[in-house]
Amino acid sequence: PLPVVAIIGRPNVGKSTLFNRLVGKRLALVDDQPGVTRDRREGEATLLGLDFTIVDTAGFEDEDAATLPGRMRMQTQAAVEMADVALFMIDARAGITPLDEEIARWLRSSGGTVVLVANKAEGRAGENGVLESLALGFGDPVQLSAEHGEGVADLFEALRPYI
Ligand code: GDP
Ligand code: MG
Repeated sequence: PLPVVAIIGRPNVGKSTLFNRLVGKRLALVDDQPGVTRDRREGEATLLGLDFTIVDTAGFEDEDAATLPGRMRMQTQAAVEMADVALFMIDARAGITPLDEEIARWLRSSGGTVVLVANKAEGRAGENGVLESLALGFGDPVQLSAEHGEGVADLFEALRPYI
């Protein structure tokens, strides 16, 4: 079986944009089971010749803000448990939010392999967010623009040791 990479992060950071870019037309299956895996999408990804299964932990953007953190936590844990690597994505333009810090704590306590990705890093608007992300404790982020396809080689280098 292929190694599994799960994209983790709060809503709107660009998880699905990266998923779509890596999967292209090879979307393998949609997991429509009820519960925490309800919105999980899996696909077969190719990144510069590296093949893996990628999991997009879809968001709860339209749901009750009061229940969002708990539901996200369950979904994050389920994704991390099945993954060889968690790609923890933040929005470099928005900077680090309290929810990002909370997700960082969940990921740290999970003990799994985490690769930090600072998305929306095209141009200079992301520089502050990249610096802020160092405080999350996962080292230098991979700077990426999922929308513009920048940083793909750096993502490859960051993932390769683990998959
Ligand atoms: P998700 O909720 O984490 O899955 O985020 P989406 O993939 O749905 O993207 C949220 C928004 O961010 C959309 O409007 C995307 O077009 C935008 N977005 C995604 N990647 C980038 C990027 O690299 N740069 C910029 N500027 N916007 C992006
Ligand atoms: Mg999404």
